[in-house]
Amino acid sequence: MTVTGTPSIDFGVFSDHALEARAREAIRVDEPRALLDRFATLVRESGTPAEETAGRYIVERLQALGVPVTLHTPELYISLPEHAEVRLSAPGSTRTLRARPPAMARSTGESPVEGEICYVPSRYAAGTSSLFDLPEAARGGGAADPVAGRIVLTEGFSMPGSVQAFERRGAIAQIYIHPGHNIHEGICTSIWGAPTAESLGRKPSTPVACINHPDGDALIADLQRGPVRASVKTSLREGWMRCLLPVVEIRGQQDPDEFLLVHGHYDSWYEGIGDNATGDAALLELARVLWGLGDSLKRSVRIAWWPGHSTGRYAGSTWYADTFADEIDEHCIAQLDIDSPGCADATVYEEVMWMAEADALCRSSIRDALGLDSQRVRPLRAGDYSFNQIGPTGLYMLLSNIPIEERKRRGYYAVGGCGGNIAWHTPDDLMPVADLDILRRDLAVYLTTIVRILNAPLHPFDYSAAVDEIAAAIDGYQRASNGEADFSAVLDDLRTLGDALRRWRAAADARVAQGSTDDADRRRLNATIRQIARLLVPLNYARGERFDHDPALKFGAVPRLEAAASLANAPADMKPFIKVGLVREVNKVRATLRAVRRML
Ligand SMILES: [Zn+2]
Repeated sequence: MTVTGTPSIDFGVFSDHALEARAREAIRVDEPRALLDRFATLVRESGTPAEETAGRYIVERLQALGVPVTLHTPELYISLPEHAEVRLSAPGSTRTLRARPPAMARSTGESPVEGEICYVPSRYAAGTSSLFDLPEAARGGGAADPVAGRIVLTEGFSMPGSVQAFERRGAIAQIYIHPGHNIHEGICTSIWGAPTAESLGRKPSTPVACINHPDGDALIADLQRGPVRASVKTSLREGWMRCLLPVVEIRGQQDPDEFLLVHGHYDSWYEGIGDNATGDAALLELARVLWGLGDSLKRSVRIAWWPGHSTGRYAGSTWYADTFADEIDEHCIAQLDIDSPGCADATVYEEVMWMAEADALCRSSIRDALGLDSQRVRPLRAGDYSFNQIGPTGLYMLLSNIPIEERKRRGYYAVGGCGGNIAWHTPDDLMPVADLDILRRDLAVYLTTIVRILNAPLHPFDYSAAVDEIAAAIDGYQRASNGEADFSAVLDDLRTLGDALRRWRAAADARVAQGSTDDADRRRLNATIRQIARLLVPLNYARGERFDHDPALKFGAVPRLEAAASLANAPADMKPFIKVGLVREVNKVRATLRAVRRML
């Protein structure tokens, strides 16, 4: 089956070009510059005084600008890496390598784990979108797995999928060779936000240490000469820590209960200028400009600065999702994530994340703000996308990037921020990584998108595009199953639903355009659009139930049915079990699609 989607919404009709232009013209970089200067002196690790100083700075600037702000003080579960040590002993030589532990790895304290190294060669991620992919090398396993009982050595960042896979294979400790001269900080747990009694068991139980590329190469050379034993020692400070979480609310004039959530993290690795002081500066400037638009905004906007992103696996945004779940469920129009904008030489919009239903909105916003084309990538299960299981549509995360060609020319490898600059998550993420002129451009994109969302009569998201994406994914799984999965009924449902959504939206747009709706009608239509999102976003992005948080692992679209793709290569005795599971998941998917149809 072929899937085609024509956006049913003509955004030109509903763009208030004059207001958008006024918002863009109001952009100044004084507040952003001052924030970067201040944050350049603060290593904003969660739960520390420096992070608190940064949180207080944001609150003080908002108060000075007269913008209303609420300061929450959640207790978040945080893991602060202190140090790691890898001591090697090969025949004739003993040495200690420089190493860093990722957050949430096991702390050995003064009792190192000792054993023989088992090298499992792997490849580095080809691009930002594949950073969370489970490397082929981590799969393996089975009887007589050489990894079992040894210290695994492999290339890559210590991502949660790899760490979990090697742990399940019986590794007693893990050493990751990073692609460059610097060791990048990171977090290795798959648990999203604070652990629950159920998820706590997934916290990594092995010590993990990361080393740089030259040390990794030398170690691999040692291994070619014979067995090498290592002793891995890690120290991390872990526990519940009180953090500051400031949230601005600027109330809209027409539908103040409906709100757009605009957010980003303010904790950092090192000084974290490109990741994410530039984003914090953008959020502050957005608050100033949007507050200045006064009664021109029809709906409300909340602007939030999260702690606990880097060392709590998105703990701040997850706390907010849990604590304000009812309001988000009922009234949140969408969530817009701001991470690592405004970085030097980041002139293109080649790999920008947004959900399919926001395609026309985001593309047109970038084009109208800057005259540039953009390329969409499907949002990763990463960043502060902690709201997918409640179900608002999500847009952006990383925004502008250094052109891919230029990154290749510089010999950069794939990283997860700073516009692609490999200073990301290292002590090099300092002032030269940022560029206020680029930040000004990114702010123009954000403001155009935000004003459009706040003032469009009907929420500017095309959910028939989400249905088309869901259908394409399910069709792909069916093909990959080599005829072993039959999803024809659900694909028929999706075709019918896509058409129904297109007709419904066209009729609603026409009624609004003709002025034949009153406020109550319009509010009812928008409530329906949000309820459709509450069903389709979790269907497209989540494996678990609503209001929960799936692991930080790579999923495909419609993860409930992804197992079909593995059917063709599954052991014969496992296939019937996989098929039983798929029957149940198809039932859930079809019930969800019926519920959407009933709303129309
Ligand atoms: Zn970031």
